[in-house]
Amino acid sequence: MPNALITGITGQDGLYLAELLVGKGYNVFGLIRGQNNPKTELVEALVPEVRLVAGDLSDIPSLLRALEASEADEVYNLGAISYVAYSWDQALLTNEVTGRGVLNILEALRLYEQIHRRSPRFYQASSSEMFGKVHQVPQTEETLLWPRSPYGVSKVFGHYTTINYRESYGMHASSGILFNHESPRRGPEFVTRKVSRAVARIKLGLQDEIVMGNLDAKRDWGFAGDYVEAMWMMLQQDEADDYVIATGETHSIKELLETAFAVVGLDDWTPYVRQDARFMRPAEVDLLIGDPKKAREKLGWKPRVAFPQLVEMMVENDLNEQKKLHGV
Ligand code: GDP
Repeated sequence: MPNALITGITGQDGLYLAELLVGKGYNVFGLIRGQNNPKTELVEALVPEVRLVAGDLSDIPSLLRALEASEADEVYNLGAISYVAYSWDQALLTNEVTGRGVLNILEALRLYEQIHRRSPRFYQASSSEMFGKVHQVPQTEETLLWPRSPYGVSKVFGHYTTINYRESYGMHASSGILFNHESPRRGPEFVTRKVSRAVARIKLGLQDEIVMGNLDAKRDWGFAGDYVEAMWMMLQQDEADDYVIATGETHSIKELLETAFAVVGLDDWTPYVRQDARFMRPAEVDLLIGDPKKAREKLGWKPRVAFPQLVEMMVENDLNEQKKLHGV
């Protein structure tokens, strides 16, 4: 049975990927950060098969020990400070973890290879935020990168570092340029989950309104469960490469609101939504739409869940969750 090591095991993608790999018969190891990490229980409850290994992306010896403990055949680097808005407030920390963390794990892999003569395959979670102020529509693997946030800049560093280590050392290191991907496990700070939760609470009479930022931005939103399959597929190829993973469709925040409110039978969302400068960003990514042609042709990957089903899945989940929480 192959061994996989996942960083970012406590996040949305880490959990879906762990489930996928356990289902495929992998021994799955997850890097867990910090003392008494409060998310440990979540991983243990959802994917009890995962073996947790202590370590931190900013601590190279701990990464080397995690590689040794897991005897990893495949390493998935999903660990990051992942919230764009927050990255302006803690730019250095974002750079340290989301950017430098990639270099750290690649250096740990080199040391591991030198000491143990084993060469695990490597997946880097790159991001459509790297396209930022987009230079081409739709965005492909060749589109110029023009990030618009400390998060985006850090992801660009990680992306090019992955390519550089592939070219310099012949590592099987692939980079997945994933467009926004969501699910009922998405953190509530992201716009889809913020909206799905608020819509559920408004429907149940638990809140009156939702306060939002820019409603005109457009995103290419897919389902996280579909996207982790692409990660695995990349590491099964003979050659490492970079792939855009997207649906090829884009929707505005307004359309997200319209679709989510319609799920609970509220056809006019406007009375429930207020805008506030607090949720506006110093620089915005206005339009993201990816072209997943290469992934479709080379990996045989395609998304299964479309935008309306994704929104419905998230709103239904939040309705159930809020009912349980509040006994309504
Ligand atoms: P991102 O694409 O990684 O930044 O994912 P987010 O889900 O955080 O944001 C997606 C888009 O929604 C961005 O263009 C935000 O400016 C926009 N947006 C508008 N209002 C909000 C809000 O209240 N919260 C968040 N997170 N995003 C918002």
